[in-house]
Order: sequence, then C-alpha cells, then structure tokens
Amino acid sequence: MNLYDLNRKHLTQLVESWGFRPIHADRIWKHLYSRLLPSIDYTDKHLPKDLLPKLQSEASLFSPLLEADAKSCDGFTRKFLLRLEDGETIETVLMRYSGRMTACVSSQVGCAMGCIFCATGQMGFTRHLSTGEIVTQVLHVDRALRDQGEKLRNIVFMGMGEPLHNYDSVMTAIDILCDQKGLSLAGKRISVSTVGHVPGIRRLTKEKRNISLAVSLHGATDEDRNALVPLGRRWPLAELMDACRQYAETLDRHIFFEWTLIDKKNDSPEQAHAVGKLLQKIPSHVNLIPLNPTQGYEGKPGNNAAAHAFQAVLAKYQIPCTIRQRRGIDVAAGCGQLKELKQKVVS
Ligand code: SAH
Ligand code: SF4
Repeated sequence: MNLYDLNRKHLTQLVESWGFRPIHADRIWKHLYSRLLPSIDYTDKHLPKDLLPKLQSEASLFSPLLEADAKSCDGFTRKFLLRLEDGETIETVLMRYSGRMTACVSSQVGCAMGCIFCATGQMGFTRHLSTGEIVTQVLHVDRALRDQGEKLRNIVFMGMGEPLHNYDSVMTAIDILCDQKGLSLAGKRISVSTVGHVPGIRRLTKEKRNISLAVSLHGATDEDRNALVPLGRRWPLAELMDACRQYAETLDRHIFFEWTLIDKKNDSPEQAHAVGKLLQKIPSHVNLIPLNPTQGYEGKPGNNAAAHAFQAVLAKYQIPCTIRQRRGIDVAAGCGQLKELKQKVVS
C-alpha cells in the first residue's frame, strides 16, 4: 500500500488497525508532509520500535522518478518529466508569475476528451493517476522550491488529463494537500480546470468543495465548441451553463472560463459578443490563452490585436478578462503541450 494514497483519517485508521495510537499516525504524517522526507525517518525516537517493521513490510512510499528537468530560457518555467511505477510518464510544471509560484499538475496519463488542439488529447487516454501519483507531483515541486528557499502556494490542475474524469483521486489528493497538519495549502489557491465535465461540476456543487473552478469553453455555440471539443456533444452548452450557474450560486463564487484563442476559428468580435451573452448570468472571469503549437494541430494562435479586441468586447458585458502571457513554449511546457514521452529524455 502506498501511504501517499491515504488521507490523514485513513492513515490513522491503518495505524490503529495495527494496534498503535493515532498520535503515531500524526508523526508519520509529519515526516511526509511537513518535513517532506522521501521516506519514513526510521531513526525517529518518537515512533514505537515495533511500528517500524510493520511500516517496512506493509507500506510503501512510492514517488515518481525524475527523468528530466527542463528550464525555459526566460527562467519562469520549469518542466519535470516524471516516471511512474509502471513506466508511464507524466509532466508537472512549475511556473513563476509575478513572484507567485504555481505547480501545474497532471491528473491522468493522456486524456479521453480529445480536444483537437491539445497534445494530451491527441495522445488519447492511457489511465487515471492515483491519489499518491498526484500528491507526489506536488511534493516534488515543493522540495525543488524549498531547496531554493521558496514555498509552493498555488496549484492548478491544468497539466495532463481531465481532473473531473478522475474525481475521487483528485479530491482525496486535494484533501491531503490542504490538511492543516501537513502542507496546509489554501483550497481557494487550488484551481481545478475542467473541459466541462457536467457531472463533476454538479458533484463539486453538492459537496461544496472549497476550491477554485476553471471551465474551458473555447466556443460559445454548440457548433463552434463541438468542432474543437468533442466532449461538447455529450454535455451541450445549455447543460454546462446550468451546472456552472448552480455552482456559482451555491458556493457564492465566480468561475474562471478558459478560452484558447485560435486565429480565425474563435477570435472574432462576434464570438466575443456570444461569450458575453452566454456568461451574463454567471460571475465570471475569462482567461484568453493564445494557442500553443502542438504536432497534431495546424491552427495558429490568435494575434495580439484580436485578443485585445476580444477583451474590449467582454468589458462591455462587465466581464473581466486576462490575456495569458505565453510561457514555457521553448520547453513545451505551455498549456496543452504536455504529453507522454515513451523514451528517456535527456535534459
Ligand atoms: N483538461 C482540463 C485541464 C487541462 S488542459 C481542461 O481542459 O480544462 C489546461 C488548459 O489548457 C485548458 O484550458 C485547455 O483548453 C488549454 N489548452 C489545451 N491545449 C492548448 C493549446 N495547444 N494551446 C493553448 N491552450 C491549450
Ligand atoms: Fe483533455 Fe483538457 Fe487537453 Fe481537452 S484540453 S484533451 S480536456 S487535457
């Protein structure tokens, strides 16, 4: 059993089932999530002697192995290629935006949603990540940051995969990351980005999850959207907007809408007006992401003038809109550029 798969309650139950007091589970938790040790500290005198062999025989601590560590030329982005226990690889990105350190983590190997402009979508779906495989990506980034005297505060689920398609593992990982006796990250600094997985959004609403929600839109009519996001056929915009409205109302918060800007596909002022109308009843913030290049899609990024015109139209609807700077493109760490690498990469 990988201890990184367990939240604190489950770790406590495990330790109790072995006949030890809950306080010892807290001690182990501290090793993993406060001291960020890569293994249990077997010299820790506060752990009972007979607990140690139990841990050694019944529990494991698997962290993905670092295969490559690539830094972008501007120094703002660092991409880690991590190899999992079964040989699959995933990518985790560390980004620095105006002094804030953010980890962009993966939730799946590949993705089943098939957005045509996304490298992860182009590779198809291999498997879900376990809770431990998600948590250890964050630990990896946090250790790298602590080595340089900094601390990780923000997480975005915008790496490989659709997080709401792997709901249980992702939410348990978030519970672990926010646990006050461990990393103690703030829920509102954790963003889950979804392609529009309606049942997942409804579940977040029902469970009143204290996180930030981003929804990738890309098209404001079903026809436009379905041409880019095949999943739109399953959950049409009317249904998606209804789920978003209920989420925003129930949790009393705004939603970030992501819009990958593609030249002559979805960057016209008419399309911006359609977005304005679509989002009128939802407290929203739109992020425009100029398309990043991928092998399987020939579209071009929308140009600066189109992005600013789009932004100006949304301003008429009182919708705040940010144009994302393109970062990490030289190391293929930009949005939608992450994909599995079968062979070993030398950085
Ligand atoms: N599956 C989730 C989260 C991962 S993708 C989602 O789709 O929201 C993270 C963001 O990158 C999404 O907004 C996605 O639309 C965007 N993206 C994907 N491919 C891109 C590309 N080639 N250029 C720019 N943004 C892209
Ligand atoms: Fe999957 Fe998101 Fe890429 Fe679409 S954009 S294929 S949902 S990772």
